[in-house]
Amino acid sequence: MAAPPRRIPTPRSSNNAASSQREGRGEIGRENSKDAGRSGKSDAPRSAALDPAANATPGSHAHLFTNLRPPRSIVTFPDPVLRKKTIAITTIDEHIHELVADMKRVMAELGGGGLAAPQVSVPLRLFITAGKPNFPDLVFINPVIEIAGAVEAHDEGCLSLPDIVVAVLRPTAARITATALDGSLFTLETSEFAARVWQHEFDHLEGRLIIDRMTPRDKLTNRKALRDLERAYEERRGG
Ligand code: ZN
Repeated sequence: MAAPPRRIPTPRSSNNAASSQREGRGEIGRENSKDAGRSGKSDAPRSAALDPAANATPGSHAHLFTNLRPPRSIVTFPDPVLRKKTIAITTIDEHIHELVADMKRVMAELGGGGLAAPQVSVPLRLFITAGKPNFPDLVFINPVIEIAGAVEAHDEGCLSLPDIVVAVLRPTAARITATALDGSLFTLETSEFAARVWQHEFDHLEGRLIIDRMTPRDKLTNRKALRDLERAYEERRGG
């Protein structure tokens, strides 16, 4: 597990597709990747809990982990970390390996299909998706996503929004280019359900949640559950 740190390339276009999962759609239009995948700028969003430690190593992400050691737990709405702009990962070091291992544990414990780093209080551009029998969990570092196809509504839940279900409109096909945990760049395309999962998790890296995509009817249906979450958060902060 203790792999040597690697500098990682920046995904740009998907011309150099390393591999392709299942069949995708031909006509994929460029979308919402405005800042995705660009290398680490210093305008890191910070909160008190995320202030750099005095001994943080330049060029590493150590400062993001000082107060956030495992075991991490799921962060729920309306915790502000879910709204932060996330930072591109520049080095895959032992902290990133540790973060991914811990995220896999949290995702498995909660039975989720995917989990983004902000959901465990780490505002980095990384998410994971759950595998199936004979198909491993996948790690997406600094992903760039392109979406296409007809837009369809489908019910989505979120580990950070327990008891909330939103019928989210999304294009049915997606192509994603990201860096794997071993530092290699890969591209996947699908028009299956994974296209929706990638879009959901990518939204987390942009500080977007499914409740931002609610219809008036969803707003009504979820009003009480959202209020309960807000109240619970206030109580945790107060206590
Ligand atoms: Zn989610």
